[in-house]
Amino acid sequence: MSATQVSSTNRFTHLLATKPWLLADGATGSNLFEVGLVSGDAPELWNSEQPEKINNLHQSFVDAGADIILTNSFGGTRYRLKLHNAQDRVEELNVLAAQIARKVADNSGRTVVVAGSIGPTGEIMEPIGPLTFEQAKEAFAEQARALAKGGADVMWIETMSSPDEVRAAVEGVATVGLPVVCTVSFDTNGRTMMGVSPSDFAELERSLTPRLAACGTNCGVGASEVVACIHNLAEAAGPDVVLIAKGNCGIPQYIDGKICYNGTPELMAVYARMALDAGARIIGGCCGTSPLHLKAMHDALVLHTKGASPELEQIISQLGEVSTGAKAQWAGEQSREAGAAAGATTRRSSGRRGVSSAN
Ligand SMILES: [Zn+2]
Repeated sequence: MSATQVSSTNRFTHLLATKPWLLADGATGSNLFEVGLVSGDAPELWNSEQPEKINNLHQSFVDAGADIILTNSFGGTRYRLKLHNAQDRVEELNVLAAQIARKVADNSGRTVVVAGSIGPTGEIMEPIGPLTFEQAKEAFAEQARALAKGGADVMWIETMSSPDEVRAAVEGVATVGLPVVCTVSFDTNGRTMMGVSPSDFAELERSLTPRLAACGTNCGVGASEVVACIHNLAEAAGPDVVLIAKGNCGIPQYIDGKICYNGTPELMAVYARMALDAGARIIGGCCGTSPLHLKAMHDALVLHTKGASPELEQIISQLGEVSTGAKAQWAGEQSREAGAAAGATTRRSSGRRGVSSAN
């Protein structure tokens, strides 16, 4: 990205230039379930119906030390909102999402970045599905314009899986002229559901116009897998690319009709230090990460000096198992076959695909 595209006063680029690491926030969806959101509801409607609850979640992450808060707009494209008959409210709901976060950030007494969260459309793109590249690009651009209008500092594309959708999203959101970041979810044996490995993603990123201000991984199957994937991405991307780790708070488990995450604040503190050592400069949590977890991560990072990238055995012993696919990539074997041994797959539980809040 050229310097002329982004003003030097942009909060995101300013913080990146002045701090060794940045703390991103925790989960949106799973924390909203705790305060009354019901599975199947669109969290984005709460920007209009329950703005104080969105405000409170942002505030609790800022209080825990977050440098970056993500707007409540993950499902804010017209295609996702259509599932709730709200496809004509893209501008309204995304402007509100950014305004709510902006107000919390501006009242924090320090520089807090508002990242405009943008998730997948949920549609399959051509030639397999019906969504054309131009339709996808315009839908992302429409959402981005509203997030920028509401005061977002950076466009934050997340939980992506398809390379075509990454390209459409980046080109679409870049039209507003703010820095763009993108994270994919390596949730299927060290790759995205559409087969993208960390080395594939590094190559894809190098081909994007504009290049990303930061890239990385979010959500997925657990903290251990995210750290291993960050190591693999760092190897492929090189030292000049800013990496983002936003891992889930442990492993999702289905208990009493609810999806729960088994990570403790102590585990997330270890995860945060290891993610930094593995090469991430922006570290946060995804599904299941509460403000309490984020505070533990913040305190761990403040006391930590970046060290050598962790050994694979350390990651497994301190955070949990890593998929066979990610292990094969770690050993330098990039082919899909090497990661496809029997019993190789570590993936999140079925049924997550349709959950409207994978962030
Ligand atoms: Zn998640």
